[in-house]
Amino acid sequence: MTRAADGRWSEVGDGVLARRHPELDLTTGLVLGDRRALVVDTRGDARQGAELAGAVRMVTALPLIVVVTHAHFDHCFGTAAFLPCPVFAHPRCRTTLARTARAQRAEWATYYRDRGDPVTADALAATDPPLPDHPVDPEASVDLGVRAVRLRHLGRGHTDHDVVVHVPDAEVVFVGDLVEQGAPPDLGDAVVAEWPATLDALLALRPAVVVPGHGEPVDARFVGSQRAGLAEVAALHAAVAAGELDAAAATRRSPYPSVPWPSPP
Ligand SMILES: [Zn+2]
Repeated sequence: MTRAADGRWSEVGDGVLARRHPELDLTTGLVLGDRRALVVDTRGDARQGAELAGAVRMVTALPLIVVVTHAHFDHCFGTAAFLPCPVFAHPRCRTTLARTARAQRAEWATYYRDRGDPVTADALAATDPPLPDHPVDPEASVDLGVRAVRLRHLGRGHTDHDVVVHVPDAEVVFVGDLVEQGAPPDLGDAVVAEWPATLDALLALRPAVVVPGHGEPVDARFVGSQRAGLAEVAALHAAVAAGELDAAAATRRSPYPSVPWPSPP
């Protein structure tokens, strides 16, 4: 069943759309060319992916290309609804998804069941996510006809394989969970020490609009403030690793005290 409130599109640049989803406040993307269109992330299960694919088909009938920003289930378990089409991601996204899909499915199906949402739990439990088949290592260019889109791994951060989608003519970048709006950054699989430098590389693209993996599109100033917070976390992490601070004290001093402390690399 498709819920009417599953999402809404907003135009963040000429022919560049972002779609907000109530589920986990996820944000997906659509870049329109005249020969192809590119979808950024596919939602969290086969049912949600089919809903997004239907919404894409309300906008365009062009052949599609999918880009998966990273291997977390909410960004890539919906890919099957878009096949057959090329699916781009970093090679480590593919290996991580192959290695962790079963555990992610079990963990999050339990989460939804515990929250009293058996429909989403069942949909997730029945989803076997396809693996990306086109590598971004460290970058790739995708020709959509009137415009080219750059796919780039700018460095490690939220994961060790984050890919951003740069639309140069519109000055828009889709960044997955390298940036989150409305929630603190998720450090669970992060490479915290390298994340600030990755955001520096993102800012060097001089984007007018940055579309995060969750929440509203933001600007470079917002990215700069999240970079500063992550640099504080990285310094605290280094202090803990050096034995100068215990993890509890570091968590209290963190700009994101509600976020569980990342395990050492
Ligand atoms: Zn993520």
